[in-house]
Amino acid sequence: MAFHYQNGELFAEQVNLEKLAQEVGTPFYCYSQRKLADNFGAYMRALAPFHPAVCYSVKANANLAVVRAIAAMGGGADVVSGGELYLALKAGMTPDKIVFSGVGKTEAELEAAVRHGIRQINVESAEEMQLLAQVAQRLGKRANVAIRVNPDVDALTHVKITTGKKENKFGVPWSEARGLYHAAAQMPSLRVAGIAVHIGSQLLDLEPFRLAFTRIAAMTRQLEQDGITLENIDLGGGLGINYNVELPPTCHAYAQVVRETLGDLNKNIIVEPGRSVVGTAGILVTRVLYTKQTEQKRFIIVDAGMNDLIRPAMYDAWHSILPVRREGVAPVVADIVGPICESGDVFAKDRIIEPVQSGRLLAIMCAGAYGESMASEYNFRPVPPEVLVYKDQYAVVRKRRTYDEMLQGQCIAPWAEEQA
Ligand SMILES: *Cc1c(COP(=O)(O)O)cnc(C)c1O
Repeated sequence: MAFHYQNGELFAEQVNLEKLAQEVGTPFYCYSQRKLADNFGAYMRALAPFHPAVCYSVKANANLAVVRAIAAMGGGADVVSGGELYLALKAGMTPDKIVFSGVGKTEAELEAAVRHGIRQINVESAEEMQLLAQVAQRLGKRANVAIRVNPDVDALTHVKITTGKKENKFGVPWSEARGLYHAAAQMPSLRVAGIAVHIGSQLLDLEPFRLAFTRIAAMTRQLEQDGITLENIDLGGGLGINYNVELPPTCHAYAQVVRETLGDLNKNIIVEPGRSVVGTAGILVTRVLYTKQTEQKRFIIVDAGMNDLIRPAMYDAWHSILPVRREGVAPVVADIVGPICESGDVFAKDRIIEPVQSGRLLAIMCAGAYGESMASEYNFRPVPPEVLVYKDQYAVVRKRRTYDEMLQGQCIAPWAEEQA
């Protein structure tokens, strides 16, 4: 077990979190390398018959040590910016295992991708494809292109993380994709490499995947009849995790759907999981600053805020919150809130929890995905440090910046000096 109690005290693998908090200060993110390996390994094993490229979606957690750990397990990367491309290469991923997604890549980002000769650039519009062809031509290279199609499938997930409906900004409309492939095949600086789809995040049902993959299979066959042969089928990410009482499909069940829909096509399968690799492998540890009882409510005020984990505020997300030392006292009902000057800075409303006092620690579970990577310095607060645990060892893999470091790159406008 990655995160578990021993004699009432919460551990990350064999590291005592109370002690770790004394060493690194709070709040901090803590990741279990073992859990990361289990989650990633599940994809590798389940999809092994398809010789997959498991291209971890870096935006879920862009910590260098995390990405490095995935690279070391044979993983690739799905990147959505020039910065993530840079980071993936730094972490040791080879260009042949990197795919570039995103609806708004800049010319400079396309150029970096072409220069490195990455596995696949997933374009999302005719204009982007045109620009990619120009960039590649100028560089005297051929760019590996795939078209991210919009299959118009409802992922049955939160509206802010649904990406495969026709009213979403993502992908090339289904009706235009075939024409665009024909155009791509005519462009000498492009090499048509594959087809891509990504219908959303935190999916708990396999049927939307089945629908999307079935459409992708049909498109692939159609293109083959047209004389355009694809090598890669990129299925995106999106598999959900259990935050509370969800029952996400296993990688094995997911692979079964891949087999049933795409198995006879004999293509290279690319998947881009993010959340399902890192989500359960990380927690956010925070200290209780104060408790207060108003007429209506009991509040537990902690030193982590919405800028460290925005999911509850942004997606109405539910995170399990555990006391780092369990006393076994009868629970109370409380709102667990951060210090940020926003009413939305609430981790949990009316949560049943042990009556934790000020000074005690809480662990916000399943914070490995879209925690650190969506963190900000709002209220001029440093982003919490990140700690990677491996058995009984730990390493601070990203330190907390000092206020001076946070001010680096800022200056007073020259005219302000004159006006002073
Ligand atoms: C965000 C994203 C992913 C990863 O999604 P998860 O739900 O975290 O698995 C994969 N592919 C693309 C194109 C994305 O934008």
